[in-house]
Amino acid sequence: MIDLRSDTVTRPTPGMLKAMTEAPVGDDVFGDDPTVNRLQAMVAERSGKDAGLFLPTGTQSNLTALMAHCARGDEYIVGQNAHTYKYEGGGAAVLGSIQPQPLANAPDGTIPLDLIAAAIKPDDTHFAITRLLALENTIGGTILPASYVAEATTFARSKGLGTHLDGARIWNVMAASNASLAELCSPFDTVSMCFSKGMGAPVGSVLVGSKELITRAARWRKSLGGGMRQAGVLAAACIYALENHLPRLRTDHENAARLGAALAQIPALKISHQGTNMVFLSVPPEKCVALDAFLKERGIITAMGPRLRLVTHGDLKPGDVDVAAQAFKEFFK
Ligand SMILES: *Cc1c(COP(=O)(O)O)cnc(C)c1O
Repeated sequence: MIDLRSDTVTRPTPGMLKAMTEAPVGDDVFGDDPTVNRLQAMVAERSGKDAGLFLPTGTQSNLTALMAHCARGDEYIVGQNAHTYKYEGGGAAVLGSIQPQPLANAPDGTIPLDLIAAAIKPDDTHFAITRLLALENTIGGTILPASYVAEATTFARSKGLGTHLDGARIWNVMAASNASLAELCSPFDTVSMCFSKGMGAPVGSVLVGSKELITRAARWRKSLGGGMRQAGVLAAACIYALENHLPRLRTDHENAARLGAALAQIPALKISHQGTNMVFLSVPPEKCVALDAFLKERGIITAMGPRLRLVTHGDLKPGDVDVAAQAFKEFFK
């Protein structure tokens, strides 16, 4: 099987499973799971923040962060394409009583500063209280320009807003740019990171920030059902990923670049953009069903559609992307 649907399909390696079975554990709701505590401390230290919080999913991590920043009736400014806004079941509004103020993302994933400025509400009883700017990096596989991140967060801070980064794939930014985790996190009050994508852990996210914000997020995590007990077996997988899987993300990026370059030679396909471990392309809508079947017969799985996203990851064998590109070529021959 060559599964190009997502980097979430990665399975724990034998080394990771061994680390999980050998992890010392306790009851994390009592705060005494040593492996969870170790992961939280490691990620906090590497990101240059006071504290870390282990959560089962990135969705819950983002939601607890939004709820730590915003109270009922507050609003957060977020990109129209952001995972937090678009792909998390509207949790901020549904569960947090937080009003989203979505703004159109530019093609490079940024939210133009003039749009942000115009969306910040004056102190007036007509309006929700604008409290937070949330960005995402990578967004659609694209790395936000560091200069933009600096400008946007400085501007937000000058307006009294907090700043949150959905850094689900911040590891891919590190792999592509050689920036340290601390450098990438420093412009933000809170950052959420996923271990269950290209990092290859079965589950797990860590939220980092100040002691005060993380203490509040920990309270919401419990309310949301995210207080886990011997969670050290899961945290051990994340520690293993942190210590072993960062370098392999570069291979994922090389594979995506090679896949994109090969597919770009097929006139029927149009590459809309590609970056880090993702390739986005348009497929003629009338070809989708047949192409999907053709690929499946050859063991290639995609989330087929007219706007197709292909994702590379560590469970691909060397040469898998060439096999996949060749199958696309044969179909369109
Ligand atoms: C995957 C992802 C999340 C969180 O996803 P979970 O499946 O809940 O872990 C958040 N933001 C982005 C950008 C993501 O890709």
